[in-house]
Amino acid sequence: MTLSEKILGLGQQWQQEVERQKVSESKLLEMEEAAKALGERVAQAALGSLLEMAGKGYQGAALDCACGGKLRFQRYASRPVRSLIGEVPDERAYYYCRECKTSRSPLDEKLGQSAREISAGVERRVARLGAELSFGAVERVLAEFDLEISDRQIETVAEEVGERAEQLSEAEAAAAQTQALAPRPPLRLVGGSEAKPAPARTWVVEMDGVMAGLQGGAWQEVKVGAIYELGARVEISRDRWELLDKQRCVSRWEVEEFRRHLWALLLRSGARLGDRIVVLGDGAEWIAQTVAELFPGATQILDFYHVSERVWAVANQRYGEQAPAAKAWAETKLEALKEGRVGEVLTALRRLEMPNAEARQIRAETVGYFERHRHLMAYDRYRAENLPIGSGAIEGSCKHLVAARCKQSGMRWTPDGLGDILALRCWVLNDRLDELCPKPKVKIEWAKAA
Ligand SMILES: [Zn+2]
Repeated sequence: MTLSEKILGLGQQWQQEVERQKVSESKLLEMEEAAKALGERVAQAALGSLLEMAGKGYQGAALDCACGGKLRFQRYASRPVRSLIGEVPDERAYYYCRECKTSRSPLDEKLGQSAREISAGVERRVARLGAELSFGAVERVLAEFDLEISDRQIETVAEEVGERAEQLSEAEAAAAQTQALAPRPPLRLVGGSEAKPAPARTWVVEMDGVMAGLQGGAWQEVKVGAIYELGARVEISRDRWELLDKQRCVSRWEVEEFRRHLWALLLRSGARLGDRIVVLGDGAEWIAQTVAELFPGATQILDFYHVSERVWAVANQRYGEQAPAAKAWAETKLEALKEGRVGEVLTALRRLEMPNAEARQIRAETVGYFERHRHLMAYDRYRAENLPIGSGAIEGSCKHLVAARCKQSGMRWTPDGLGDILALRCWVLNDRLDELCPKPKVKIEWAKAA
């Protein structure tokens, strides 16, 4: 039976069933379901027929093995593969080398089918969702779309794709280590005269450390970096900004490792020699060292949102949690900071009468924080230069990479599992999923085929 004949038969069967159930008199909900059921059966028939054409991968009684021995044909093994349109049979020739105990399936190699019993299309969806949601949530979402996969399987697949992402990131970081920023390309070549380089651009680099919970109650610090070009930041309403493009990197290893990844990210972002680098951070020592090592001469800004958290803590200690007086005090001081009056706020902090020892301790820490980072708090100047003063002002700051996926209540990770999922999430957010799970290249052009 040809595929066309099969489809015709399926259509007739469907028609009868639709008439029997009087689907044409039902609501759209039922019609839609009935039509989808037909579509799936037709798709299964089409996939089955394509697989039939691909053959079973029999290539004779024996194949040469890499070990120098022979891979001998064993049998046709049947292994159903879960695809986007249900289970499809995958019968293929199976070869085995007795010398080195490896096996091969030429058909699977030709199809690009992994040893796992899911298709590449299912793998891509699992990876895409696994980057955003807990494994249990992915299981429930996929079940809603008629794809039954257990959360354990989802975890395995997502972690495997994540491991691929981690390895690729590692390779990029290694390659970037010996590279410097390229000179800016010439704007245009003017006949005979000197070519002018393109104008310098400004790159904003955000860095932060986030803790994630490991199994057994330990915590793992994860360092996150984000880079964007200042021009990609647009003001959607007063003091509300949206980023059109931002690239991120993440590392759970030592800070040196993170720096290698951040440098690779800067190169990939397209920064050139002579471009301006602006670094936003919480004032941590490792950030200062990273700047000194990677971007000497960068403009450093103390993230305004970290500063405001501290100002609010002092206000709440002094006037009471959420007291109107606390709000009034904190808001006045933050406004003064935005206008560059750091000295004035520092004096007010020092003079503030605190009710108890704990409150005095918090005030002292904040005073110390201001004294240490005063040179990074010229917010009036940064604002005048149109630079961002707070990473938190941007929807999806770099913590979003870790917190939204890996710090949900009750989540406890193995170190490797955490690394895999963070790498996967990072690649997905950077819009690089295609490099991990390629999109199919085929596109049926109905008009041409007609
Ligand atoms: Zn062998």
